[in-house]
Amino acid sequence: MISSPKIYRPEPRFIWPEKKRCAAMICFDVDGETTALSEDVALESRVSTMSQLRYGPTIAVPRILGLLESLEIKATFFIPTYIVEKYPRTCTSILEKSHEIGLHGHLHEKLSGLNPDEEETLLDKTLDIMSNVLGIVPRGFRAPWFEINPGTVDLLASRGLDYNASLMDDDVPYLHKNGLVEIPGQWMLEDWEQFAFNADPAWGFIPEDCDKVFNLWWQEFDAMLDYGCCFNLTLHPWLSGRPSRIKLLERLISAMQATESVWFATGSEIADYISNNPAARRELCLEGPAK
Ligand SMILES: [Zn+2]
Repeated sequence: MISSPKIYRPEPRFIWPEKKRCAAMICFDVDGETTALSEDVALESRVSTMSQLRYGPTIAVPRILGLLESLEIKATFFIPTYIVEKYPRTCTSILEKSHEIGLHGHLHEKLSGLNPDEEETLLDKTLDIMSNVLGIVPRGFRAPWFEINPGTVDLLASRGLDYNASLMDDDVPYLHKNGLVEIPGQWMLEDWEQFAFNADPAWGFIPEDCDKVFNLWWQEFDAMLDYGCCFNLTLHPWLSGRPSRIKLLERLISAMQATESVWFATGSEIADYISNNPAARRELCLEGPAK
């Protein structure tokens, strides 16, 4: 008789609401033209390159909103305020469907290129534009390129933000020392590496087959389900809004829903949950919880 193999089943990392086994935060970074303009404003004259990026806020976002409505889930949209000013009706339509909008710079600036004063001025500018154009006070922030500076976490807290979604040092949310919630992500659950391509300027690689991407993301989800993690998926409308990739997203989320074990939540909902239930988190790091 052959004995069945022993399977590693650690304790769940987190106690999630509604007795769900894991959480999922579906994010759309609506970078649009800022993808290129943050590299070089002269690229504005590159009409075809800009047209590929404009596809995001103009064609992809309405299609994504339709899909999310069909799937009956809420998502989190991180939007540079240049895009908010240029496409206010698109952004308003996101809010009208009860999705969340978070901060993502103005022109998708690399924070590592800014000194503390410049970063503070930039953050205040984005908060002002969100207030003036959309009438909202964003609660969350994702840094362009996921890259923050040593002072960013305190700066965000000083402006009353509730969460950051830019670091990669865990797979469940945690609290920074100043009380700001971190909702970590990872490059594997990102569509740029899978789908980005532009000839000149040269970006990305070969656009991947959707079946391969489904497998990559599903395998991580399936393991996160076993380990009680937070599946934080980051998508860009100009990439993931193309027809076959909308079908990929529908297939992925439908399969996740079919497990009946996933708490789909916005960044603010996750931040509120951990702030109110800090004991939900199970520590793994032997160095202690301090970040
Ligand atoms: Zn971005």
